[in-house]
Amino acid sequence: MAPSATVATTALAADLVRQGRDVIPMSAGEPDFDTPDHIKQAGIRAIQDGQTKYTAPASGLIELKEAIARKLDRENGLHYDPSQIVITCGAKQVIFAAIVALVDPGDEVLLPAPLYVSYADQVKLMGGVPVIIPTEPDAFCLSPDQFRSALTPRSKLIIFNSPSNPTGGIYSRAQFQALAELIAEAGLFTITDEIYEHFIYGDEEHVSLAALHPGVADRCLTVNGFSKTFAMTGWRVGYGAGPEEWMSHIAKVQSQETTNTCTLSQHAAIAALEGPQDSVGTMRAAFKLRRNAIADGLNELDRVTCPRPKGAFYVFPNVSGLFGNTIADDVEFCRYLLEAAGVAAVPGTGFSAPGYVRFSYTLPDDRLSDAIDRIQTAVTAIQGS
Ligand code: GLU
Repeated sequence: MAPSATVATTALAADLVRQGRDVIPMSAGEPDFDTPDHIKQAGIRAIQDGQTKYTAPASGLIELKEAIARKLDRENGLHYDPSQIVITCGAKQVIFAAIVALVDPGDEVLLPAPLYVSYADQVKLMGGVPVIIPTEPDAFCLSPDQFRSALTPRSKLIIFNSPSNPTGGIYSRAQFQALAELIAEAGLFTITDEIYEHFIYGDEEHVSLAALHPGVADRCLTVNGFSKTFAMTGWRVGYGAGPEEWMSHIAKVQSQETTNTCTLSQHAAIAALEGPQDSVGTMRAAFKLRRNAIADGLNELDRVTCPRPKGAFYVFPNVSGLFGNTIADDVEFCRYLLEAAGVAAVPGTGFSAPGYVRFSYTLPDDRLSDAIDRIQTAVTAIQGS
């Protein structure tokens, strides 16, 4: 099992900053915005009210589960009883618990690539076999033919992430509908990681796969969380909703693993869902401008291609045109960028997409334009080498 490429790069950048180096961190996928004040106040009130114990059940506060059930109904067309929801330490933990509960040694898990860094390693940890399915650049969405070719009698689970980290790719309703028919027919389990649902910059709609087909919903875990939408990465609250049997096993795994996620954070999360939502639109508007700025800045460079991602808050340029005598691959490119430009980015290899690099553009505008200048200067220096 490899360490998380995003977490490792973020730690390296933080370490260099502590040593006094001027490093611009474009490695971590976390909003630079502060958690909205009404959410913080709810956390503070929870401390003052003595809400400092375990939650019972460990799978989460009933009031938060009810608020999540209302959200899924209102925004996603998904109808779950609160008993079908488990609240975890971020979205990552519910995905992990779901894999622990489901995947047996030798089971194949279909992973459209580029993929979020943790999926394949979580599968490997359980003895499962990650089946990486490369998708076509620009759209980065799995086609029905690719799905059919990857399917074997050992296929058990498929994981989707739309909008995608790292590509920003988004599945349309028609694309998901076509895949839903095939998934239901094959009887596969599905995890849909929807953590970036509110970061879509054009006319595309966010579609929850489980809402499209009862045969998928019966075996689908819908995953979401508070880290990105409400700038709450450090609070560690994510959740999953799905069929009762799978959820009961996920709850069992969590009860043996972390008990519950932080009680105070769960109180803050209720305020996030039930309180004013304007901060989400403010972040989205800012990220859209930043996406345009960095994608345009990268596209000015010869031999770098960077289509504007549709969602999430990353750009994912193909930099393989720069490889030659000086730089051999994306891992070396990121090392060079850190050394020469003081910019931390994550190599595409961590996302099963060698030749690419992920830049997170969750930076204040002045830092972002500094970063774009630095990247342009460093890339220009190696062009022609
Ligand atoms: N999901 C974020 C990222 O991709 C946070 C780091 C992580 O947990 O992987 O950067």
